[in-house]
Amino acid sequence: MAKRDSKTGTCTNPACKKEFLIIAQEISFYEEKGLPMPDLCPACRHRQRMALRNERRLYKRTCAKCNKDMLSTYPEDAPYTIYCQKCFWEHIG
Ligand SMILES: [Zn+2]
Ligand SMILES: [Zn+2]
Repeated sequence: MAKRDSKTGTCTNPACKKEFLIIAQEISFYEEKGLPMPDLCPACRHRQRMALRNERRLYKRTCAKCNKDMLSTYPEDAPYTIYCQKCFWEHIG
């Protein structure tokens, strides 16, 4: 196996744009798996992962208007009135 050199990437997050090092082992890992090289610095990658995790978290709630069961990204104790999709649009419309 050919020895690879570490290289520098630039974070594509416009708010960050930090340069970060991709070490040789990391490069061969991505190439082996056929994955694209990371375009975010480790800190932004971590933040992105956390954001994705939060988005996927759903709670079983009841619509405040029609009492239908539904899934919401807000937990039971969130200080928001929760409406189902339909009632939400009626409410703001
Ligand atoms: Zn970054
Ligand atoms: Zn509803």
